[in-house]
Amino acid sequence: MKTNTKEIGGKSSPVLIVGAGMAGLACAVTLHQAGIPSLIFDRGNQVGGRVRTDEVDGYRLDCGFQVLLTAYPEAQRFLDYEKLELQPCYPGSKVWFENRFHRVADPFRHPIDGAKSLLTPIGTLADKLRVGMMSMGLLSSRSMPDNCSTINALRKMGFGHSMIDRFWKPFMRGVFLENELSTTIRKFEETFRFFSKGDTVLPKNGIGEIPRQLAGQIPNDHILLETEISKVGPNSVESLDGTKWEGMAVVLATEDYHANQLLGFGKDHVEWNSVDCLYFSLSVVDLPSDEPILYLDGTGNGPINNLTFVSTLCDCAPLGQALASVSVIGKKELDMEEIAKQAKNQLTEWFGKKAEGWKYLKGYRIHQAVPSCPTPPSPKAALTEVYRCGDYFGLPSIDSAMKSGRLTAEHIIRESQS
Ligand SMILES: Cc1cc2nc3c(=O)[nH]c(=O)nc-3n(C[C@H](O)[C@H](O)[C@H](O)COP(=O)(O)OP(=O)(O)OC[C@H]3O[C@@H](n4cnc5c(N)ncnc54)[C@H](O)[C@@H]3O)c2cc1C
Repeated sequence: MKTNTKEIGGKSSPVLIVGAGMAGLACAVTLHQAGIPSLIFDRGNQVGGRVRTDEVDGYRLDCGFQVLLTAYPEAQRFLDYEKLELQPCYPGSKVWFENRFHRVADPFRHPIDGAKSLLTPIGTLADKLRVGMMSMGLLSSRSMPDNCSTINALRKMGFGHSMIDRFWKPFMRGVFLENELSTTIRKFEETFRFFSKGDTVLPKNGIGEIPRQLAGQIPNDHILLETEISKVGPNSVESLDGTKWEGMAVVLATEDYHANQLLGFGKDHVEWNSVDCLYFSLSVVDLPSDEPILYLDGTGNGPINNLTFVSTLCDCAPLGQALASVSVIGKKELDMEEIAKQAKNQLTEWFGKKAEGWKYLKGYRIHQAVPSCPTPPSPKAALTEVYRCGDYFGLPSIDSAMKSGRLTAEHIIRESQS
């Protein structure tokens, strides 16, 4: 617990927040709403941390394919969905297996497509009934322990290999960003619940609009970008160039290992899941369909795990052009040029000869995408000498980052009133 509560007093003295990712921004917004000023520092040149959109040659490229689930409670609390002009994905996917795509649809939202899905080789009829029972709460993994991996839980629930290998693996790999589905079953349950309860969406102008909207809720001059903090104390921070700031409290809203470094704890003890995200540009006439749907590799041959023509969802390509976002997981041994070459072959296999002309625009190799999560973390660790928050205090996601930022701010607010 924080020990120096007495020092939290005069409201004119700001809370110093290191990190302008989703956690740091949610913390700042919550403090601002309570009338407590903050100063946020980030070493990057834009807000958002891991939630970023780059502009490249007239394209908007999200730094890694990620989506917002409208059912996220913190997103509902902090974001104005209408202003983000959210664009929904089709609730289902097309799975490549035996040389063609098979549509797997959510029967509760698309009953006709859902009924057709019953006939595909992506899982047996019994597997599909199990998914339906899960949606209705008649089949659950709740009694399984926190350290039960998703893959083991799916097997225990009775899913067969044709469902696990052809659907659950590519779908959940795209969420967990790890190949083995060793992530705790609690993360699977949460994800399944949010996917079923709401829409899967992207803002019209890319994922980076989300942190920008949060940043817009606090005064502009309270955010100092390109400012790397190298030293921290309970009430002060110092940047690399030696500038010092004093405040009523300090919040480390960085990734876990940066927080540990700043606190002098040394070694990074967090394992990370990683992903390579590659962008290909193509002419709109080459689009296989203008439906915003997720394409999955049900063969396991890769290297592409999942693909979305993101220009069918958001405004991310110049007029007449389209944009494909491709995710590759677990191919760290290959360099990006080699992955792009292999991905191009797979695109040609999937979409025909026209894909040979699609241009590799840019690739993002994201070593530290999300903290790996074999068991749910303990949120108590957020309250130490210096406050901490970040996605790593929950089941990692945009939502858990915001929740952690909000809870930290609420704690500071309570202490400032005591
Ligand atoms: C490729 C990818 C796909 C994802 N897919 C999804 C998805 O579909 N849905 C979902 O909900 N989540 C997804 N996530 C996870 C989600 O983006 C993260 O969980 C969340 O954004 C983490 O926010 P954060 O604020 O905890 O950390 P970060 O975003 O990492 O913010 C930490 C900030 O601290 C700054 N910083 C670090 N050290 C210093 C320092 N010394 N001085 C100043 N600043 C510093 C960094 O620059 C950074 O901006 C994905 C992540 C990635 C990378």
